Amino acid sequence: SLKRVNFAEKIFTHFNREDLQYIQLISELAKRKRTRVYLVGGVVRDLILGFPNYDLDLVVEGDAIEFASFVAQKLEAKLVTYQPFGTASLFVGERKRRIDFASARQEFYAYPGAPPQVEHSNLRRDLFRRDFTINAMAISIYPDDWGELFDFFGGFKDLQKKLIRVLHPLSFVEDPARAIRAVRFEKKYGFQIEPFTMSLLKQTVREGLLAKIKPDRLKEEIQLILRLPGFYSYLQRLYQLDMFPYLFPGCVWKSDYDILYPRLERLIQEEASTERLDFFLLKMTPLLSDIQFDSLEAFVERLHLSKRFYSQVKTYLGRRTVLERILQEKTSPPSRVFEVCSEIPLEFLYFTLAKFHDQDLARERIRNYLTKWRFVKPELTGSDLKQLGIPQGPIYAKILRELQKARIDNLVYSREEEIALAIKLWERMKASDQ
Ligand code: ATP
Repeated sequence: SLKRVNFAEKIFTHFNREDLQYIQLISELAKRKRTRVYLVGGVVRDLILGFPNYDLDLVVEGDAIEFASFVAQKLEAKLVTYQPFGTASLFVGERKRRIDFASARQEFYAYPGAPPQVEHSNLRRDLFRRDFTINAMAISIYPDDWGELFDFFGGFKDLQKKLIRVLHPLSFVEDPARAIRAVRFEKKYGFQIEPFTMSLLKQTVREGLLAKIKPDRLKEEIQLILRLPGFYSYLQRLYQLDMFPYLFPGCVWKSDYDILYPRLERLIQEEASTERLDFFLLKMTPLLSDIQFDSLEAFVERLHLSKRFYSQVKTYLGRRTVLERILQEKTSPPSRVFEVCSEIPLEFLYFTLAKFHDQDLARERIRNYLTKWRFVKPELTGSDLKQLGIPQGPIYAKILRELQKARIDNLVYSREEEIALAIKLWERMKASDQ
């Protein structure tokens, strides 16, 4: 039976004025077309919880594409349809605000005025396809019952009891990616996975069904986790639930991550955010620094990562010992640190910064590299070398790099000194060529 709970007021306070106007316009148009329209899924959950989430995900009891086209005309919005799925997206206004429409198809027996259980059987069916009860609620934006909650599976009660619960026992078999989603919602909201749901989840893991999650799907779910504050605690939880072999082949959770990961996260927030980095790689660096090299290929394949990703990890694993030795050796000149750091992907340098947090010398050196040394430029350029009569070729790059290193080590201070050094380098290179 449907409990009548109304969120009319909450809708008004949850959305900003512009979104509210869109919702109200859609509501009027729904009335004109005698088509019932609902907010659904995550936005309903978050509206009830008072969490920020301003997705405009709508379900239409009827043909969503037809209705969205009608709305698009009235709002002069850009319409994108996905015929095979019966869904459509609108992009409204100057800011191209996205509004998604999905169909809950009308069946012949659902006639106006039928008892609600029958009348809304299509909405119910749409909601039944969803992952958890807290994500399977709808709020009507149709004028006649504006703000009314449609909660067929006890989602509202589960929100109050802080429980993640599947809608039926085959849920994880249908879509094993829901196991990762369960962990995401559990941690994000501080909820618990309801005991029966937990037993189903564990069974799903035990039976190896997580291997069926397609790489791109898996990557998306992991990315959703990596964007959250405290992302590493979700990773730890995935490990604890024995999911790592299916998600991150060759990786385990080590106890030093408990200290390392919060440091890394702080670094990312405070410093790395201005840098052009692969954040997926950056946030995986602790796991990858401990991966069995034999498993790297499987890892990259499992998450459909790029060749570049693979070679960056490989480079790091190959150079790590040298990097760490040079960073810690008191006698390493700055240019030597510069040389080794410039071979290491930046993501792993940030990782090393977190790892050597307590080692002043190493930490200072990485910082110097990141903030100064890598930007040092010699005064001379290629055309200066040409004027000096040095024949053009790959040695230009070599000479300029040596000049940069000399600058970093404060061995040259002026243009004249650079010229003298360039000539000396050239002569030495000539001699060693013969
Ligand atoms: P968040 O915005 O925090 O990621 P969300 O619930 O909005 O949470 P989405 O991935 O945007 O997450 O999904 C929107 C809605 O679509 C969900 O609330 C749920 O109803 C449904 N959904 C998404 N993924 C699945 C799935 N794998 N199985 C079933 N339903 C799903």
